[in-house]
Amino acid sequence: MAKWETALGEELRQLKREGRYRPLNVWTGGSGTRMELNGRSLLQMSSNNYLGLTDHPALIRAAVEATERYGAGSGSVRTITGTLDIHDRLERELARFKGTEAALVFQSGFTTNQGVLSSILGPDDVVISDELNHASIIDGIRLTKAHRKIYAHKDMAQLETALKESAGCAKRVVVTDGVFSMDGDIAPLPAIVELAERYDAFVYVDDAHASGVLGKNGKGTTDHFGLQGRVHIQVGTLSKAVGVVGGYVACDQLLKDYLIHKARPFLFSTSQTPAVAASCLAAIEVLGQSGELIAKLWENAAYFRSRVQALGFDTGASETPIVPVIVGSPAETMRFSDLLLAEGVFAQGIVYPTVAADKGRVRFIVTARHTREELDYTVEALRKCRDAV
Ligand code: PMP
Repeated sequence: MAKWETALGEELRQLKREGRYRPLNVWTGGSGTRMELNGRSLLQMSSNNYLGLTDHPALIRAAVEATERYGAGSGSVRTITGTLDIHDRLERELARFKGTEAALVFQSGFTTNQGVLSSILGPDDVVISDELNHASIIDGIRLTKAHRKIYAHKDMAQLETALKESAGCAKRVVVTDGVFSMDGDIAPLPAIVELAERYDAFVYVDDAHASGVLGKNGKGTTDHFGLQGRVHIQVGTLSKAVGVVGGYVACDQLLKDYLIHKARPFLFSTSQTPAVAASCLAAIEVLGQSGELIAKLWENAAYFRSRVQALGFDTGASETPIVPVIVGSPAETMRFSDLLLAEGVFAQGIVYPTVAADKGRVRFIVTARHTREELDYTVEALRKCRDAV
């Protein structure tokens, strides 16, 4: 029998030598800001649970009721028996929330990007993408035969050049993250929209880290900049601030109809479970009244970032609740993350190839649920770890 050892073992050893080997953390309990890792209670500083909705009573109740009413699974893909009334309502509510004609739900944010990009881009088209866009955007683009142009992070001069150079293409689509997941900075969407309008291109924004975070009640980057009606495709996830799992695209009805017929992850993968669809629906309702929660999130983020910066740490371009502390090499970064763990704080080390080899970082994600004491505790742990290295 063939052995994986010869085929793959050396690659794993190389990852270990470079300090990039990552065993999975197995969480054994807790939720919100305190979670148990192997039975040890830790302060959670790396969850995408921005608004603390994962254990919100309304979401849990909705999941239980839907499971009792419809069962544990939906039974098939959306186009056969897998569209329940709760999926339909979730899409209507998402469209209403985002202020678009329609919305279509996928099983994850990742498959939303893959499914949408691979459907709308053909060989005569061009896609123009920020170099720091998420892996699911990159993979979605790779699935197409479209021409591709990558512009340096947020470099509008390069974006304009790419638009000029692709004048002969049938469709031009500019793709950007709304909030960049590794740096926590915001895309210059007004400038992108202006350029796209000047060169007759479509604008596609992935709001995974902006949904529930930016804009009124967390409507996202488009709302934050007052660009309603000028962004053609808004992708979001239901797994971060919304607190459950899934993804969606908010768009016009025509594109929704098109994707129902073309997007392969939508067509060929079983729909969200009733519990998931119902708790997402409950979460969208909660978001409708989330003004105070979002204000608290931003207050916490500003407080934490300024205290971390006051210790002399480099927080890069962070301007949202994602606060990276740039450490350096993969080995140094993982060691720093381990030292924090010893202090009872979980903050994920993120290293090459996710970020540049010398820009390894411990990525903190501040949530609305963190108390001042918890943020102060984390800052003190950071100070101790800095002194230890
Ligand atoms: N886009 C971005 C910018 C993300 O950060 C993520 C999550 N890592 C995704 C898409 C994928 O979302 P999901 O986790 O819902 O698949």
